[in-house]
Amino acid sequence: MIRIRPQISRNNRQPNTGSAPGVGRYIATNAPQEPGGDPISTLNALEQWRVQDETHQQQSVSWPLEKFPLKVAIEPHPDGDSSGITSKGIFAVLRQWEAAYPGVIRFQLADTPAQCKSADILIRWSRQTTLGRDYEVGHTNRAVRGKRITGAEITLIVSPVIDRHIGPAQQQQRLFATILHEMGHALGLEHSESREDVMYYRGWQRGYLSNGDIQRMKTLYSTGQCFNG
Ligand SMILES: [Zn+2]
Repeated sequence: MIRIRPQISRNNRQPNTGSAPGVGRYIATNAPQEPGGDPISTLNALEQWRVQDETHQQQSVSWPLEKFPLKVAIEPHPDGDSSGITSKGIFAVLRQWEAAYPGVIRFQLADTPAQCKSADILIRWSRQTTLGRDYEVGHTNRAVRGKRITGAEITLIVSPVIDRHIGPAQQQQRLFATILHEMGHALGLEHSESREDVMYYRGWQRGYLSNGDIQRMKTLYSTGQCFNG
């Protein structure tokens, strides 16, 4: 099949649509920029991938503590039951972040239409990757006001390219890692330099949080607060 290589996007930031200063949207994309071609170069591309435009995005943003528990709406998988992926299954993976900082990081699964409408975090599916990032597994779009996150939308890619090169067990681990990684972004974490971490910039491999991930989340949500974490 002939595939036209799309233009590589160097900057994923969306146009600033808000009128007030400090209001904007920012996408953290979990994908390599350089496409491979065969399985080996695909894996190499994933290994070498790095989101350049995130390195200067280290200003820490976080949800106000009073917003917890955050309401999470999860769109049903487009392939339905045959996918074997349920909203409850995804929510169960997210609970790792709750366990990372008990009593502070809390989620509530939005399961009525009214709750979904007012959800803080939406997890949705797409068959389409971000332009120029053929190997994307997911991305997160945060809405921020100043240093506060006001909403987040996580997009998970249905059957990303990497899944063609790994077995079913690895595919599930890859999905869990993607969910954890993107939720880390939705909560305000940026990429880590340590390969042990779910928030490592090639964060599609680990299906469970490292001590580093946990510590960084605790630091993010204890800074400037009236208690010690
Ligand atoms: Zn990422």
